[in-house]
Amino acid sequence: MEILTVAVGEFGHSVASAMKKQVRKPVIVELAEEVSVLPPTFALSAINVIISAKPVPALWRIVDEMCWKHNRFFIPVMLERVKLRIGPIFSYPDSPCWLCWELRELQRDNCLVNTALNDYYERSQRGPEGFLPALSRIAALRLDHTVDSLGREEKELRGQVWQFDFLNMAITANYLVPCEDCLRCKQRCNPSVETVEAIQAELIALWSE
Ligand SMILES: [Zn+2]
Repeated sequence: MEILTVAVGEFGHSVASAMKKQVRKPVIVELAEEVSVLPPTFALSAINVIISAKPVPALWRIVDEMCWKHNRFFIPVMLERVKLRIGPIFSYPDSPCWLCWELRELQRDNCLVNTALNDYYERSQRGPEGFLPALSRIAALRLDHTVDSLGREEKELRGQVWQFDFLNMAITANYLVPCEDCLRCKQRCNPSVETVEAIQAELIALWSE
């Protein structure tokens, strides 16, 4: 499958370059910093990746909205303070969506820390300085593996969040859980199992003799 890589800043460019050299030749859009309007030549691919070392909320939302409307894959890759994150893997129309991810982020214990960090980045337009070169190679290899796997086991990868904690050398893979009040995801849900009556009817066997 064709892969579009939007590379933001030095880390984004480094991962995109590693992908080109090591594994796969993506279509690359290189950006020095976050933008709120995409270049007129921008066109979605089957798989769309944004790689950055700092939050790029406007860009994430623009690309996600396009992927949501056109049923394309969207994969954000971000170098966080001590973690490399690939995902969630948005596999539209079947996976939980970006709005769910934003809500889940706000529910995390350290949301105040994240909010303060994001506010700082928004104001200063600066991200962390520097990164280990090995991290861009790891990101490129993992992305290649993910893209390969999407062709075979797309269902298992929906909503997956893969993280490499490079302080503790720990790798985890969790899954984004959709939010009950997300309007986007609600449209997909079967209304028959959403009503209290339907749930009661489904569970009646648990307490009937
Ligand atoms: Zn949602």
